[in-house]
Amino acid sequence: MSSAKSSVESLPCVSVAGLSRAYRQGQRAQAVLLDVAFTLGRRETVALLGRSGSGKSTLLNLLSGIDQPDAGCVQVNGVEVTALQEPASTLFRRQHVGFIYQFFNLIPGLTAAENVALSLELNEVRSTEALQRTLVLLDSIGMATLADKFPTQLSGGEQQRIAIARALIHAPSLVLADEPTGNLDAATGTHILGWMREQLRAHGSSCLLVTHSLAVARTADRILTLEDGRITERSGEFAW
Ligand code: ADP
Ligand code: MG
Repeated sequence: MSSAKSSVESLPCVSVAGLSRAYRQGQRAQAVLLDVAFTLGRRETVALLGRSGSGKSTLLNLLSGIDQPDAGCVQVNGVEVTALQEPASTLFRRQHVGFIYQFFNLIPGLTAAENVALSLELNEVRSTEALQRTLVLLDSIGMATLADKFPTQLSGGEQQRIAIARALIHAPSLVLADEPTGNLDAATGTHILGWMREQLRAHGSSCLLVTHSLAVARTADRILTLEDGRITERSGEFAW
């Protein structure tokens, strides 16, 4: 292992300090995040629990560098993503971050396999090789029959599994999952979360798992809650 890689291994995957974000509409400012701080350890899955509108998606957007805070900083693998300009920000995100959206966000004009392969192609893998590696992954998880289907031909659970495969195939060190099972029935959601955890473990990835479900949060290593713009760590039994 190179020294650069081993020094990254010794850092937390994500380190957030003093993070604040408000949305301005005309003269009014609505504070969404207030001086948020936490770390996400390597290979750790941390649940982020909070009511609808509490700022969970806003926080994920700041962690991935697609939105900028008013104050504070985010480091991913020791790189200050809040200081990156374009195109460095997009390049960093493609390589190091996998994003799983609540509403899947598969590209409608691409097949399931092409949607997954795109994550590799954006990291300079040739398209024939990207498709080959995608088919091996889909086959290994019993989804080979979905490869040539378009998103509209898939059930919600199937779309979400393809979306997870797309977010994980390039083995990103950080996976940001925004209510990944929010639109699925409980049994399908539990099954898919279990499968996602196996994939995360196999890649050694860290994950921030956003949810408004306490049952889902309890599957994580730790639970953070977001309320009134502030993050607190919850431990042991608690009522929500
Ligand atoms: P959550 O993901 O927890 O449901 P969000 O981060 O989506 O919460 O939103 C937090 C708050 O910020 C909400 O009150 C929402 O209406 C507001 N908000 C989110 N995005 C914007 C935006 N682009 N412009 C203005 N207000 C926004
Ligand atoms: Mg949200």
